[in-house]
Amino acid sequence: MTRPRIKVLALGGTIATRPDASGAMQMGLGADDLVAAVPALAALAEVAAETVSKVGSHSLGFDQIHALAARIAALDADGVIVTQGTDTLEETAFLLDLLVDRDIPVIVTAAMRNPALTSPDGPGNLLAAVRVACDPWVRAHAAALGVMAVMLDEVYSAGDVQKTHPTRLDAFASPQTGPLAALVEDRVVPLALPVRDAMTAARARLGAAAGGKAAPVALCWLGLDEPGFMIEALVDHRDRLGYRGVVLGAMGGGHVPERVASLVVRLAALLPTVVSPRASGGPMLRQTYGGPSSEIALRKAGLIWGGRLHPLKARVLLETCLRAGLGRDAIAEVFDAFG
Ligand code: ASP
Repeated sequence: MTRPRIKVLALGGTIATRPDASGAMQMGLGADDLVAAVPALAALAEVAAETVSKVGSHSLGFDQIHALAARIAALDADGVIVTQGTDTLEETAFLLDLLVDRDIPVIVTAAMRNPALTSPDGPGNLLAAVRVACDPWVRAHAAALGVMAVMLDEVYSAGDVQKTHPTRLDAFASPQTGPLAALVEDRVVPLALPVRDAMTAARARLGAAAGGKAAPVALCWLGLDEPGFMIEALVDHRDRLGYRGVVLGAMGGGHVPERVASLVVRLAALLPTVVSPRASGGPMLRQTYGGPSSEIALRKAGLIWGGRLHPLKARVLLETCLRAGLGRDAIAEVFDAFG
């Protein structure tokens, strides 16, 4: 039987580090090194490796992921594995999901424990990712699954996966929906298909225009007693700051402290401003609470309702919409579909 042709594209991250003379971990390994460390891959797939970059994912940029999506679009392969750092994996996977239009498995994986430690998870995660990419159920449902993340023997949807812990081995989860599949022995056990209507609609709306010019989006997390100085700066110095949109990590089902409500409304009149739940995403309220800082008032005043997306993913979606040249109303429609 011919083995699937799997391309491994390495960006960097802990999975690709090695110790320097002082023992500190530095970026250094390329895609060939990662593949060579897992001889078992050869039994599953015909693996080709390509080093795209050697940077920590905390330093990746939107432009690099757009270039990566274009590279994936041009590949002659049966599946693609992207290896990178864990820090921004939930964002890059989601951006790839918005951009990549391929009917083959596209999987992002990483490592929490570096290669110098006694039990690094990188090799196991790479093997699991390739196993998932070669699995007949996954291949048959590749378009329906969208871009996936594979970490610690679980498969997650790009739209839902979150990094939920800064250091633990089990640092990833999909708190809202659970995993799409689990790896057990040498099998991939399917558990669910993601609901992708909003994603499909967003991708159609973005179309070929998704690759325009960078559009910086500010992320303002609202905490107890937030005085609103940053929001005020955005209102007063919009041109100097250069942000083209804002995501507010809002309280509860879509609330902001009353003292910043009028500022937030002024901001929304100047820049597309998305209200997104700081409680790790999840569907928001639309018509329960009254008063100036409530969801009813904010929605009426022109704030864009972020839906169930985590604020980090809402920021990625807003940047992508702005790059594509979508105006406020079109952006609101894209977000509205996310519930
Ligand atoms: N800072 C690293 C990165 O995201 C951490 C990791 O890979 O886990 O590249």
